[in-house]
Amino acid sequence: MRVMVVGSGGREHALVEALAASPLAPEMFAAPGNPGIARIAQVADIPVDDLVALRDFAKENSIDLTVVGPETPLIGGITECFWEEGLKVFGPSRAAARIEGSKVFAKELMRQAGIPSADFEAFDREEAALAYLATRRDYPVVVKADGAAAGKGVTIAHNRDEAEEAVRASFAGKFGAAGERIVIEECLEGREASIFVVTDGRDILPFLPAQDYKRAYDEDEGPNTGGMGAYSPIMWMEPATYAAILEDIIRPTIHHLSLIGAPYTGLLYAGVMVTETGPKALEFNCRFGDPETQVILPRLGSDLLEIMIAAGEEDLAGREVVWSADKTVCVVLASEGYPDSSHSGDEISGLENIPAGVYVYHAATEEEDGRFHTAGGRVLNVVGTGPSIIEARARAYAAVEQIHFEGMQYRTDIALEAIELEDL
Ligand code: ATP
Repeated sequence: MRVMVVGSGGREHALVEALAASPLAPEMFAAPGNPGIARIAQVADIPVDDLVALRDFAKENSIDLTVVGPETPLIGGITECFWEEGLKVFGPSRAAARIEGSKVFAKELMRQAGIPSADFEAFDREEAALAYLATRRDYPVVVKADGAAAGKGVTIAHNRDEAEEAVRASFAGKFGAAGERIVIEECLEGREASIFVVTDGRDILPFLPAQDYKRAYDEDEGPNTGGMGAYSPIMWMEPATYAAILEDIIRPTIHHLSLIGAPYTGLLYAGVMVTETGPKALEFNCRFGDPETQVILPRLGSDLLEIMIAAGEEDLAGREVVWSADKTVCVVLASEGYPDSSHSGDEISGLENIPAGVYVYHAATEEEDGRFHTAGGRVLNVVGTGPSIIEARARAYAAVEQIHFEGMQYRTDIALEAIELEDL
């Protein structure tokens, strides 16, 4: 069996590793991959948005299943593109991927399906949005560009001035076509969690939830990033809350997508705010999270490849996923200047003697003559595992101490709150 993973980050490295471990012993391919992935898969230098080149590669190499990491190709229709040639993809169709590709679509779907979420209004004209803000008494509000904007399209506006500025910026083209429509929504308070399920469009197979850290610096200071760390499991979430998320948010979303003729197959990721009045959906993503995947897959005791094949064959009913009792903590090592800029070409040392119980997933690295260098913002993901969060965290940070490159930056407080909860 031949399996290809599309993408080049730590998420894709973790996916390739988990898939390669399948008892089905697949031959692994990746596009474009990275130097870490290249150790376990044959890599092809094809950009993730060149759908036709990816399809041609899959065809020429008789790929049996393609697993898509990032959202851009899914929102762009890679699944349909592959289907045209009879090729299988783990990931939703373009129609179903709109759940991430358009916030207006996602919010309207949530309203129609009765999914608990922030109240909202959608606008496609600046004047109408500004007129609405003039009538609004409660601040803060959240202003969101409709399309995906790599985490930058969301503004929490604390007063009317800030909200108006965000509205004007979006309609002035700050986010390109993604900002031609906007959502203005109620600001929710609570704790955020990332929820993952694999679905065949009807049944669901819950994966573990994870906690991620979006801000650049300790204590949630600094700008938003692609993610600076994560841990699993989430101690603070009550089992009843998790059950409510599955029943009140995940299942109705999947059901409603089927009802409107856009059945969802693949991994559905819900960003959820657990508020005083229960969990509410913040957003949906149509793919695995990064860096959450790096803390979830090392805990997976079941065969990921078999699960993905079953999802494509509408055969998830009655299955269960086995998880290891180990806890996991991921620390992201970023290059100087991230997230505003990044630095490439700095030599990375200390990758040789990574201790047992630690995984190092590559992201923006390059390899030349056996030496690794930085090649972008988020460089490496260091994942510690252990019987407790405190041990997993200690292992992750001990390995981080061993790794070095010029300008290396990382958060020192990943999973710190979890240790406090673990002590209780
Ligand atoms: P983009 O579309 O720009 O890539 P995104 O998909 O990451 O951004 P969201 O996940 O919807 O956008 O929002 C980003 C973050 O903003 C959330 O993780 C959350 O912290 C915060 N946020 C979004 N909506 C709300 C809300 N209604 N109330 C409070 N916080 C919110």
